[in-house]
This record gives sequence, C-alpha cells and structure tokens, in this order.
Amino acid sequence: WAGNAFEWTKRIDEINYNVFGHRKFRDTQREVINATMAGHDTLVLMPTGGGKSLCYQVAALALPGLTVVISPLIALIADQASALDGRNVRVGVLAGCASDDQRRATLSDIASGSPQTKIVFTTPEMVTASDALKGALARCNDRGNFSLVVVDECHCVSQWGHDFRSDYLSLNIFKNSFPNVTVMALTATATPPVAIDIIKNLGLSANYQHFTQSMNRPNLFYEVRPKTSKATVKDIVAFIRTKFHNKAGIVYGFSRRECEDVARQLYAARIPALHYHAGLDPSARQNVQNKWMDGRVKVIVATIAFGMGINKPDVRFVVHYTMPKSMEGLFQEAGRAGRDGLDAHCLVYFSYKDKTRIESLIDRNTETSWVQKREEKSKIAHVVRYCLNKVDCRRFLQLAHFGRTFDPAKCASTCDNCASSAIFAKVDVTKHARNLVTLVKTACKELHRPVTATQVAACYYGSSSKPLVTAGLTRLAQAGAGRGLDRDNINRIVQHLILDGVLSEFSKSRPGPHRGVSTYIQPGSKANAFLDGHTGPMIIAV
Ligand code: ADP
Repeated sequence: WAGNAFEWTKRIDEINYNVFGHRKFRDTQREVINATMAGHDTLVLMPTGGGKSLCYQVAALALPGLTVVISPLIALIADQASALDGRNVRVGVLAGCASDDQRRATLSDIASGSPQTKIVFTTPEMVTASDALKGALARCNDRGNFSLVVVDECHCVSQWGHDFRSDYLSLNIFKNSFPNVTVMALTATATPPVAIDIIKNLGLSANYQHFTQSMNRPNLFYEVRPKTSKATVKDIVAFIRTKFHNKAGIVYGFSRRECEDVARQLYAARIPALHYHAGLDPSARQNVQNKWMDGRVKVIVATIAFGMGINKPDVRFVVHYTMPKSMEGLFQEAGRAGRDGLDAHCLVYFSYKDKTRIESLIDRNTETSWVQKREEKSKIAHVVRYCLNKVDCRRFLQLAHFGRTFDPAKCASTCDNCASSAIFAKVDVTKHARNLVTLVKTACKELHRPVTATQVAACYYGSSSKPLVTAGLTRLAQAGAGRGLDRDNINRIVQHLILDGVLSEFSKSRPGPHRGVSTYIQPGSKANAFLDGHTGPMIIAV
C-alpha cells in the first residue's frame, strides 16, 4: 500500500500540504490512506504521537462523502474539531461540547442526505442513544454520501484492553447497517488478543488491512527506581532540578489525594506544579490544563484522567509516582513524552506496597466481576515483573508485551538496564524459593497465625527480632537458611513466588493496639507442584 501512483495520490498529497502544511507523509500514513481510499477496512496501530489523526483527516477530505469519527473523550473531540475548523474544514460535533443549536444544525445537515459537513465527531454513547443520528446516516448512505467511519481509541472495544467501555460494543452497528461504508479503527496500544477483539467486535470485513507503525520510541529513555515513601518526592525534585529545570513534564499519581500532596510538595520546593484530577470541576481542570499547555506551569501532577488526546509536543519527562496499572497504561502514559522527537525521560517509581494498594482497591470495587478483578490483577502482575526486572532491556520488555520483537542491541543504552554498569545476572534461585515456600507452609500449619511476606523474608534471612521470636518463626527449620543472601533479593524471590501463584496473598484484620488490615501470605494454588519440581526452575535477575 505504500505506492504513490494511485488515482488519488495527487489529491492526498495536495490535501496533506495545502490543508495540513506537511510536505511528506510519515511512516505508514500513506499506506493507511491508500488502503482506505481503496475501500478496505483498516486496523491501525500507531504509538501516541505517530500521526493517527492525519490518516483519517486526509482520507476524509479525499473521499466524496461524510466521515463519522467516534471518539471517547469530549475534550479530544473539542480539540480536534476546533483545529480542523481553523483549517477551514467543515466539521460538525454531536457531543456534549456543542450547543443544542449546533447539534440540531449538524443533525439536520446530515439528515438532508447530501451534507455540507465533511467530518462529524461523536461519542459511542451518542451512537448508542441517538436514533435520529442513525436515521440521518442511513439517508446519507442511501444517496451514496456516507464514506468512512473512524473509531478512535478502538482498544476500548475490547474487554482485554486496559480501558474497556461497554458503549464501544454498540459500534458494530456501522458494519451491520452500512456494510459498504469503510471503517478505520485506530489505537496506540493493542496486544494481539485486543487486536482480535477489535476486528471481531467492530465486525471489520474479511479483507481488512492491518497497519502497524513501529512502536519503538527511540527518543524516550526508560527507567525504574525504587520508591521509598519519604524520599521519593525529594528524588523527583532533584531529578527535575538537575535534568529538566523549567521543562514541561507530567507526574502521574494514583489517587486524587496523592496528586494534591505531591503537587504541594513540588511547589514547596519551588517547582511550579499543579494537580489535575477528576475531582476538580470542569472549569478548574480546563484552567490547569491551559496553564500547563501554554507553559505558565511546567509540571502537572495528575491521575490518568489527564492526558488522553492532549497533544503537547515538548513534554520532556513523564514520572509515574505510583506504578501504572498495566503495561498498556505505562506505554501510553510514558508515550506522552517527547512527541516532538527530541529526547525525553520516562521514570517509574516502584514499590511492592503500591501493588498491594492498587489490588485492594480492585477488590473493593463493587462494580466489577470476579473475572474482571482477576484480569486487572494479572495486568498489574505484568507491570510488577517489568519493574522487578533489572537485567533485560526495557524496550524489549515493553515491545514483547505487545507481541513485537526488538533487538536489545538497538536500545543503545537508552534504558536503565542497558545503560547500567552494575552487573546483574540471571540466577537460578529454585533452592531458596523452595525453602521459602516450605517455610510459609510450615508456618501456616504450625504457628496457627498468619505471616506476612516481610516476616518470612526476615526469618529466612536470619533475623531474630523480637516480633519474629514472639511469633515463633525463628523456631522453624528454614529460619536463617538464607543467611548471606542479600535481603532485597530474598524479598524479590518472595515477590516472584506471589506473581507466579506459588504463594498467594490475603487480607485480614489485624487485632491488637495497631488495628487495621494487613496482607498476609500462604501457599498458593501452585505451591505443591512447585515443591514437587513439576514447574521449571526459578530464574530471576539478582
Ligand atoms: P496521534 O494521534 O497518533 O497521537 P497526532 O495525529 O496527534 O498523533 O500527531 C502528532 C503530531 O505529529 C502532531 O503535532 C501532528 O501535527 C504531527 N504530524 C502528523 N503527521 C505528520 C506529517 N506527515 N508530517 C509532519 N508532522 C506530522
């Protein structure tokens, strides 16, 4: 599809230059546009900043009839529509950000069957709810004036994705009702199972074309640092001061309170920072966003409510103060850095405690099923493995998650692991891992009280602190068998055993003066198979 001798080639080149001011297409843009012009449905995977919007905008202007763009976010719709309006493209908006009058006018223009509007933006909710819209589109289609449907952020149609939205499921109405209208589905992140879901749930035709722009972002440096509750904000301050003084960045926090806290601390350290989260009223949010966009405030401390569709090219760093909830989230959020192609830094602070914190929130969510909870936890486990890994190239790990190959030699020291001069090695720790599982098993059986991961690691290390003695842990046969090992490494083995299901965690109220809920560990579903040697050796980077 890369050819430039199609009957529409001159036209799309002219649109690219005259309307958008670009002399060239980027990698895969021309291919996507050509396939669309030829009437093929397409699934387009391009990383954030890759230039997805241009694909559908040029195709929409080159095709004879109307293009409908479905996008999940009003803010995104408003931005795109006003940018196109500024380029003298006739756009209509059927979403909350347009006035009643504007919406009525757009709808009646479409209902005429020969609309003046070239591109109409709407939301999946509107598609589900509005019979008037469906009727109007049918009239266009009857007259041959309905050319293209664009599903932006199409990973939302998949339950395996990290951002499933049930209204997206109704989007199969397009292929069902208008099989002749081409569909272009766009996303920045889709693992192979998500891609399969997109194709199935949108009902893409059998000859659909799949386009993938390289997901490697060579200008981004990836790093993971340990998170310690007190020192981390200080570390962020030093990171910004030394490397990114007066540069734009995003710090992602887990909760509203966390964002407010971190923003306050940064501000106190004289780094102009503001918080942003769904709890702010819309005008305050807009205000914060504007200040950041035009550079009056350099750093925004936000929940993941912030970012989708925000196109600030010169973001120099993205920090995850709390680890992201999925590899997809990590890739997408970190991907907001360096859209201008210049170097940028993506830093994740990791603490195992955060995993427990996020999981307890998942457990408490009354709106999700058991299956969804399990799915969400398995996504977190991927991120934890990524963070615990101190050996493999981070680009390799991220891209492997999306089913892509990447030669770590090409990373050229642009991630902490490839750049590190520390010698980490992959070591077979099966013997210690078995000892630790036996220790947990015996403790659960003999002590009649639950044990925590920290206690188990300390006991194996040989600690004889009073709480361990009181709990009876120091009497167990494996106590002290890990003497001589690095304590962090013992913790890491326990964490891997939990991730692998050999040990499992459970929460229980803690009696006594320090009442609260604690997380304890016990043998997991795979404990016996592991002890009997039915699973492979345990090899981790230490
Ligand atoms: P995405 O939607 O994939 O995140 P965008 O469509 O917002 O990416 O594009 C990112 C940036 O790249 C925008 O500033 C856009 O103007 C620019 N861009 C897109 N295509 C081209 C091109 N062919 N030539 C130059 N700049 C481009």
